[in-house]
Amino acid sequence: YVASLRRAGAAVRWIDLSDPNRAAEQVADCDGLLLPGGADIAPQLYGRTPENACGKPHVQRDAAEPVMLRRAMELGLPVLAICRGMQMLNVCMGGTLLQDISGEQRCRHSNFRTRAMGEHRVIISPQPSRLRAVFDCAELWVNSLHHQAVDRLGEGLVLTAVSEDGYPEAIERVDAPFCVGVQWHPEHMSRRDPAQQELFCAFVRACRGKRGRDF
Ligand code: MN
Repeated sequence: YVASLRRAGAAVRWIDLSDPNRAAEQVADCDGLLLPGGADIAPQLYGRTPENACGKPHVQRDAAEPVMLRRAMELGLPVLAICRGMQMLNVCMGGTLLQDISGEQRCRHSNFRTRAMGEHRVIISPQPSRLRAVFDCAELWVNSLHHQAVDRLGEGLVLTAVSEDGYPEAIERVDAPFCVGVQWHPEHMSRRDPAQQELFCAFVRACRGKRGRDF
């Protein structure tokens, strides 16, 4: 994440998550927010009870990230939400998740070995979106490192890409200048794939535009 952001020209700041409100104040001092991948979100956050296949939650991230994300959205800061981050964006907007797609998927969605080259295709919606503008194509080869997926879409979000077997792979907020979630991990591909790096570049350009700062 850090290398991809730096290649795009960003100054990267890590946020201390120990106090959610203080974390949100630190976000308010930034020009944008990147929510990275990680552990499964506690299903209680979207009104479900944990199933056996659901992973152990990260208590601190589950507490801090919704507060940080809401603050970023209130301030109109650009948001790039990756994997768990995309799922968190969906949950924050009132959406739900599928807790385990391992038994149902037709293409492989969890393969660490192909993280740098890609594992399955995604079909990008032809409707105008940030995602479509960044990749400027109808289909894209992406990696896949998830066993959960967006189920019901949160309010104000649109689906901008699906996997070849139909799972949500990208979402974004319609009423925000840049609030994009992707289910894949562009940071593992961006060093060699200019299209994936361009996602970080577009995010950083949006951040720069937000405050008119040059860094
Ligand atoms: Mn996938």
